[in-house]
Amino acid sequence: MGQLIQFNNYTPVGDLTVIATCMVVAVLLATSYVTRTRTFRLFLNMLIYLALAALTDVVMHDFYTHITDGRYTAIYVLKIIYHILLFSLLLLYIVYFVVVLQLDRKTRRPLMVLATVIYMIVLINDIVSTIRKSGFRLDGSGEAVSAFNIFVIGYVSLLSILGYLMVKYRNRVYKKALYGVIGTAAVSLLILFNQAKHEQSSFTVVSFMFPMIALMYLLHSSPYDIKTGTINASAFSDAVSYNYLKKRTFYLINLYLPGYSSEGKPLPKDLEAVIRAFPSRHFKKTVLFHIGNGDMLLMISAKANPDCEEKMQDVINDFFKEYEIFNVDYKLIIGKSIDEISARNEYLSFIKDMRRNMPLNSLHIVSEKDVTLFNKSEVIIKELEDINRKQDIEDERVLVYCQPVFNIMTGKYDTAEALMRLELPGLGMVYPDQFISLAEEYDYIHMLTKIILHKTCMSIKDLTDNGYDVKRISVNVSMPELRDEGFTDDIEGIINASKIPSGKIAIEITESQTESDFLLVKKMIDRLKGAGIKFYLDDFGTGYSNMERIMKLPFDIIKFDRSLVLACQSDSRSQEIVGRLASMFADLDYSVLYEGVEDEADEKRCISMSASYLQGYKYSKPVPIDELKNFFCKTA
Ligand code: C2E
Ligand code: CA
Ligand code: CA
Repeated sequence: MGQLIQFNNYTPVGDLTVIATCMVVAVLLATSYVTRTRTFRLFLNMLIYLALAALTDVVMHDFYTHITDGRYTAIYVLKIIYHILLFSLLLLYIVYFVVVLQLDRKTRRPLMVLATVIYMIVLINDIVSTIRKSGFRLDGSGEAVSAFNIFVIGYVSLLSILGYLMVKYRNRVYKKALYGVIGTAAVSLLILFNQAKHEQSSFTVVSFMFPMIALMYLLHSSPYDIKTGTINASAFSDAVSYNYLKKRTFYLINLYLPGYSSEGKPLPKDLEAVIRAFPSRHFKKTVLFHIGNGDMLLMISAKANPDCEEKMQDVINDFFKEYEIFNVDYKLIIGKSIDEISARNEYLSFIKDMRRNMPLNSLHIVSEKDVTLFNKSEVIIKELEDINRKQDIEDERVLVYCQPVFNIMTGKYDTAEALMRLELPGLGMVYPDQFISLAEEYDYIHMLTKIILHKTCMSIKDLTDNGYDVKRISVNVSMPELRDEGFTDDIEGIINASKIPSGKIAIEITESQTESDFLLVKKMIDRLKGAGIKFYLDDFGTGYSNMERIMKLPFDIIKFDRSLVLACQSDSRSQEIVGRLASMFADLDYSVLYEGVEDEADEKRCISMSASYLQGYKYSKPVPIDELKNFFCKTA
């Protein structure tokens, strides 16, 4: 005979606890942020099955206490439903793991077929044996279970499939998440064991609940990103404060892969696997944080890795080995915890600050100098914010310097480029490389442009009123500010207010990297060109030039970047290419301007390469705009 479990030896405490817990979880999920992935929807189904199973169990036992005439059909039906729910739950666990482990069709199929067959056998047996009265039956005194307990065998087999999956594919899930699930599953088995010992059945559903709560915590609402084994940025905050509190040193490795985002382009699967495995390949006690799109930060305990610094070169070599394989754009920053930087936000801004000044696909090792620069950036941001808030077009912190441009045709200086400087309290003169990208990132750049344009217009007015021959002065504008709706109105408004002819102003803009940027530039040029403003294509030769796009825009002057002038110094082949490009532009009625002409040799070479204008230290460094008087001639 099979074991006899007293049907009336039941207390609803376990099941009611399950129902209550499901409700709590539902409330938590409704009020917290959870990404609605496929596995998460599976999880929600599991939650519903769990609550229903507990409810069925409670109702079934409640009915039982109310039935006095010995007609137990309703109980039998409920018992079958109860079993269906429990086994479906087990089946869902398996499906869940199959999805999370990303098993391919070939491995998935036989497992799912096997699980479904077991599921069907158990449930059919349940129904048939109940109808034939050979299995579960009630006679008012207790419950009889068939001698050959298929229910238990089925239960154990499905659990074995789960166990097999977890062991076989353990490398596909983040280790700690796996341990969490196995740990809670062990607790559940302990409950089942104790329940059997006491001839109980009240806590069966409870045993299904714990691994599920573990799954939810670890894989959904939790900070773990199962694919890369990363933890959400908010956890970084705690880690930083904890280490500072304990005065513990740590190392940080930041890997930024700009091409990827969780919403847009996800990381390739095999790259995810490498990221997941990389930290433990080299270090003990590491935590990998996910601090932004394609942005990962590895924290390494110095105590657990006293040889960290010596090892770093191996890590870097290993990184480059992987880079050879994946070849995706990156920025890599390596550093140690710094006393002056003690909060998560500061670390994140510090990283961003260094990254701003790094070329793509480069490695940067943090130094003292970075901290100084970072502190400076923080001050600059505050000042820029203040400039932007005050909206004072005469703001004295924004200075206009000008670099005169030599006109080959006339042999005179009659144009110039306006270049911005900031004069900030405590910092003195600040140069563009320290604030332009910040201003662009924080959306303050348009205010700066307005100030520069206004001051330039005023100077042009002053110069021409004093009889100087100023053909035009060019002002730089940044791509991000073109997205501002009022951009063209602002530009026209400022020029008109100064009462100088619009033709005395030119705008320099770099090549657009995307089609949408190109369309924005085109719209802007089409409108402002009508007012007589001239357009310069800045920094030609620094990006991936798209000739078709360039030709579609009515530029007046193409500014050949200093890097091209430099390349021509030593290399006759570069000279050949640059010369041909310049002559092609000249043939198409563009004027060619060379930037960064530093000496006579540069000058001679550029003149031989279809130059119309020359700009560089050979003629003058940028000077305060008032000093342009020293370069421009008086009209006769
Ligand atoms: P850019 O537009 O290419 O400006 C030319 C830069 O090259 C200037 O640096 C100038 O001082 C420098 N330069 C000129 N001649 C020579 C030379 O012979 N040799 C060398 N090595 N360098 C030379 P600056 O003023 O530091 O400006 C750097 C960049 O900052 C500018 O590059 C421009 O992209 C940006 N910038 C400057 N002012 C503004 C502005 O008002 N608005 C915007 N949006 N960007 C600006
Ligand atoms: Ca420029
Ligand atoms: Ca330039």
